[in-house]
Amino acid sequence: MNAIRNNTREERHKLRRRRRFRLLVGTLALSLAAFIYTSSASLFPSTGAEIVVSPLSLPEEELQAQLCDPTPEPAAAPDNIFIRDIVPGDTLGSIFNMFEIAPCTLQQILAADEEVLALDTLRPGNRLTFTLDKEVRSLERMELFIHPARHVVYQRQDDTTFGFEEVILPGIWEQDVLEGSIEGSFYLSAKRAGLSEKETAIVSDLFGEQINFAREIRAGDVFQIIRSQQFVEDEFTGQSRIEGVRIFRGKRLYSAFLFEDGNYYDHRGESLARAFRRYPTNTQYRVSSPFNPRRLHPITRRISPHNGVDFAMPSGTPVLATGDGIVSRVQNHPFAGKYIEIQHGTQYTTRYLHLSRFHVRTGQKVERGQRIAQSGNTGRSTGPHLHFELHVKGRPVNPLTASIPKASSVPKAKLAEFNQRVTELVSIMEHPQHHIAQPQRESAPQNLTGQTEHTKIVAQRDSRIAGS
Ligand SMILES: [Zn+2]
Repeated sequence: MNAIRNNTREERHKLRRRRRFRLLVGTLALSLAAFIYTSSASLFPSTGAEIVVSPLSLPEEELQAQLCDPTPEPAAAPDNIFIRDIVPGDTLGSIFNMFEIAPCTLQQILAADEEVLALDTLRPGNRLTFTLDKEVRSLERMELFIHPARHVVYQRQDDTTFGFEEVILPGIWEQDVLEGSIEGSFYLSAKRAGLSEKETAIVSDLFGEQINFAREIRAGDVFQIIRSQQFVEDEFTGQSRIEGVRIFRGKRLYSAFLFEDGNYYDHRGESLARAFRRYPTNTQYRVSSPFNPRRLHPITRRISPHNGVDFAMPSGTPVLATGDGIVSRVQNHPFAGKYIEIQHGTQYTTRYLHLSRFHVRTGQKVERGQRIAQSGNTGRSTGPHLHFELHVKGRPVNPLTASIPKASSVPKAKLAEFNQRVTELVSIMEHPQHHIAQPQRESAPQNLTGQTEHTKIVAQRDSRIAGS
């Protein structure tokens, strides 16, 4: 059984290596052609991995000149499929230029991206593929591969419109147990135990109100962390989540367990998160367009999901963060207008669109209820309003009805289930080697390939306290 599994695994690896080699050769050839074609691709300085490629990096005149040239695009390339792996310096404009795709097509793609906003955060390592019509050489389909579990397809619907589909694979979540004792700072000790910088920040954030990690953590204190990482076909997607934490500080125990509602509670079932607000404004405004996965778009008159809720309000109305978090984007988009995105821990994200003024910067920490912007009418908008989105685990949900952190304890009816979950996680922390292939309870997302999710547990104990 194991041998068979290894065999197929090896074959899959071989296939993938071959595929990658072919892609690499293709990409190299294209890059060479691109280099010869244009030496002006680099509008952004190469400053390392954190570069975000903005669609707005086109010169203003080009953004304004959105008229479609009726003449067909030149048919130079022998093939009709192009691949571009994003590198520092790339912009959407330069890539479209490179493949001789009309600027008006870029505008049509950005219009389709208004509800996903996936193209605003292109990063080195992302991949774009372009499929052109074989005869007229117009763009028929563009795909953005963000990581192995997530890609977005933009498909031509008619001469002027693209539709989009976001494909999210469930993948396989593998649990591991990371354990260590404090030597130096918590940050260094967690890093030594195998936690990433982001995961360490999440853990210290979870206990932010209870423990001062700089002052109160002492040498010899012990921590145990259960982490899940997502894999698609054996490839790590870069996505992880913290499922349980125990910190033994002297004689005191601090704990956090992720429950099915997406919130963290301590072992007694008391919430660790501060409550969320339901509404992003002080007063409740009229809903002018509800959350609707099958909405008829007011401007394009096509079925296109409305991933948020629109509140009609006068421009200049104060917009408030609905929860504590970190500002992850402050952007200006030709269709979404001026917008802000806030990351609230690992599970929740909110977005605020069509703003008139920003009051925060990217990377800034904000508190629930903090004024982050003024509402407006920027981008593609039919009147002054605020478009507000709530995403749970990367998927948009109805912000008016979704369950949000209430900073209370686990509901009585769910307590038995929660206690069982705590027992399970604690037992994994204590005997990681006894646990294998535990099914993961998570509702199956849409767009699926029939893959089932399961969890494998890998023991990864700190050697200094192994066997204790
Ligand atoms: Zn809207």
